[in-house]
Amino acid sequence: MDLSNRVAIVTGSARGIGREIAIKLAEVGANIVVNDIETAAAALEATANEIKALGRQALAVTADVSNAADVARLVETAAKTCGRIDILVNNAGVTRDQLIMRMTDDEWDTVLNIDLKSAFLCTRAVLRHMLRARWGRIISIASVVGIIGNAGQANYASAKAGVIGLTRSIAKEVGSRGITANAIAPGFIETRMTEQLDEKQREELLKHIPLASLGTPRDVAEAVAFLASEEARYITGHVLNVDGGMANG
Ligand code: NAP
Repeated sequence: MDLSNRVAIVTGSARGIGREIAIKLAEVGANIVVNDIETAAAALEATANEIKALGRQALAVTADVSNAADVARLVETAAKTCGRIDILVNNAGVTRDQLIMRMTDDEWDTVLNIDLKSAFLCTRAVLRHMLRARWGRIISIASVVGIIGNAGQANYASAKAGVIGLTRSIAKEVGSRGITANAIAPGFIETRMTEQLDEKQREELLKHIPLASLGTPRDVAEAVAFLASEEARYITGHVLNVDGGMANG
């Protein structure tokens, strides 16, 4: 895989899976625009510095990707500074878990806005640049939960199922212009999102994972790098499970 001279925007890349994706894409040659919210600015700068240490260019832009004006600023800054946008990774996401009977409007709206609307806003904003270049890769991080559902995560499961529908629609709209759109559905990955699980929950979870372990951010990043590459040119509208076999069970 060689992404030399490509420019990638990775949302929510101050930490976790997004950070690992940004570093992996830089390792295979891309220059990276890293993004996160203002309160994560210091961690975001650290990600940018790691990318620069790999000999690539890195631009850190704080922006709330659920906000249209912020997304416009993010994409304009990226295009002006880097001259092009080839790859978008819609990674930013949050959870607000609650049983549906007790779920507040705010818990629903927050997750739908940050996990789904952001992918729509960022995709709409980058497409102009990709259409002009007649080349582009849009990769969105969904979740196994968007495929099989999960008690206590109706908001998150709905948002991630929405990301899959969005991906398949984009694939059909812009496929003829050399732009692919794919989603990755991670299972349970070792990050801040999963570190609250206690021993009993972990044991229970492992019973449903054929490969019998949680995944790592690197496992997801490797799949993103492949889908971003020229080698994946004939793959679009696909959902790639990176879940240790969980969705099969
Ligand atoms: P994480 O460690 O919490 O990272 C998510 C990043 O997104 C954080 O840096 C967060 O910033 C940032 N973010 C939140 N709201 C944002 C916004 N409005 N604008 C820009 N950035 C924002 O979580 P992760 O586990 O790496 O998750 C990354 C993606 O993978 C998410 O889409 C998640 O749903 C998905 N995923 C994760 C797992 C898993 O097991 N970990 C499984 C399936 C799918 P703050 O930290 O400052 O809030």
